[in-house]
Amino acid sequence: MKKIAVLGSTGSIGTQTLDIVSKNQDLQVVGLAAGSNIKMLEEQIRIFQPRLAAVGDEEKAKELKERVKDTKCRVTGGMEGLLELAAMEESDILVTAIVGMIGIRPTIEGIKAGKDIALANKETLVTAGHIIMPLAKEYGVRILPVDSEHSAIFQSLNGENPDTVSKLLITASGGPFRGKKTEDLQNIRVEDALKHPNWAMGQKITIDSATLVNKGLEVMEAKWLFGVDLDRIQVVVQPQSVIHSMVEFTDGSIIAQLGTPDMRLPIQYALYGGERKFLGGERLDFAKLGSITFEEPDMETFKGLPLAMDASRAGGSMPTVFNAANEKAVALFLQRKIGFLDIYRIIEEAMGEHEVIADPAAEDILQIEQEVYNRIESRW
Ligand code: NDP
Repeated sequence: MKKIAVLGSTGSIGTQTLDIVSKNQDLQVVGLAAGSNIKMLEEQIRIFQPRLAAVGDEEKAKELKERVKDTKCRVTGGMEGLLELAAMEESDILVTAIVGMIGIRPTIEGIKAGKDIALANKETLVTAGHIIMPLAKEYGVRILPVDSEHSAIFQSLNGENPDTVSKLLITASGGPFRGKKTEDLQNIRVEDALKHPNWAMGQKITIDSATLVNKGLEVMEAKWLFGVDLDRIQVVVQPQSVIHSMVEFTDGSIIAQLGTPDMRLPIQYALYGGERKFLGGERLDFAKLGSITFEEPDMETFKGLPLAMDASRAGGSMPTVFNAANEKAVALFLQRKIGFLDIYRIIEEAMGEHEVIADPAAEDILQIEQEVYNRIESRW
């Protein structure tokens, strides 16, 4: 029996993780955590009967405690609660499906407690990869990618000698505005940006896909996960989202992972530590598909990708600034307070004002995040 704790169980990745658990007798949920959606969390507690539940919002944690006092589930709250859940003795694997840098401390705690990490929370690696990867090595735990692109690379690398990798090819759908130019993006509405052509995801990541910030975050994530430098990571636009990513080897061979766009596959592959199990659902039908096409990403229009590359090259605390500015900007866009193109403007401005700190500690990262948030809030 594999015992699982899920951080962010009420979100898009979290609920799909629970769907996988419900279909596999050898997986058991022992811990669940959410931010504030205690209605859904209560339902999940009643179905999966975990030993521990954590709620980010302390008041909501108290309310949930009352609501589930007839169950065997103990409820904790706030950051302390999330840290306790991350390190809980009963779990073997921690799924980090929370959004944002708030995932850093629980991930560190999980690693120190010897848990394998099924990592969806890309912000943790983007901003604290220099802490997470050496720590995972030190404690002998595995960081198993949940993101579909990284899972595809992980699957393509299975059984291969890492020294024979010449480059990673990360595929991108191009988002809902592929083919458009800057002048077409002036008056983009929130509803338009939330329409991803192929994948159903949470709101924040859907906007990040439209700006190509998500692809930038994925490049940074891949750099840390696979220990490959930026010059050996290439982004290829593949609009049908059938090839989830590829690896080119020194003999010129390219190994790719293909499939229908279904996040449950990479989630399941991570939960089983890279072992294949049956998964129901649609299968790829090449005759029906007809063609798979490729393009170069439009880096002039969709500045999310080049800005991410700049942040990664600057290193240290700059990816934190990139990520924090983007988070704030996306929140403002979703609240209809700024336009789509202002997202790039806000990121560029924040990066331009920042003096890089090399090798920031987790506390520095969280402090810089807060400073960037405050500065943007005071201006917009
Ligand atoms: P969602 O917004 O759908 O879900 C976020 C989850 O985090 C919710 O369960 C939410 O709880 C919880 N959460 C938010 N704040 C807190 C907090 N302070 N304390 C505890 N829990 C909190 O996000 P996604 O599932 O889309 O994404 C999760 C992560 O996975 C992100 O890093 C994303 O980039 C990454 N990812 C997502 C993919 C996808 O297909 N969705 C694909 C690849 C990566 P509540 O509901 O109570 O707010």
